[in-house]
Amino acid sequence: MLRMDNGGSEHLSAIGPPQSAEETPILLPVTCPVCGTESLTEYPVLVVMTALTRWHNMALYASCHEGSWDASSAEMARIRAFLGDPWIEAHRHIMPPATPDPSASP
Ligand SMILES: [Zn+2]
Repeated sequence: MLRMDNGGSEHLSAIGPPQSAEETPILLPVTCPVCGTESLTEYPVLVVMTALTRWHNMALYASCHEGSWDASSAEMARIRAFLGDPWIEAHRHIMPPATPDPSASP
């Protein structure tokens, strides 16, 4: 049954202010290493961006089995291809400025 008298148009406008971009979760395709089930798993955009541009690694988890694992280079490449370079470039601005890591530089 459709109810049109609800005035519920708020949830239709999913476009929020740009400031909330880093809090918006994104769905990534993840294949469970235990059973091979592919599912879409939610990740915070900031985590995905940091993983793609700085860590070159991230912890993945599947909803069907407990536990997480480190993404392989193939999985990172798949995630990058899934999102696409334009998406990555469009979200670069949410990254905090790079801070020098004293343990990484001489
Ligand atoms: Zn599984």
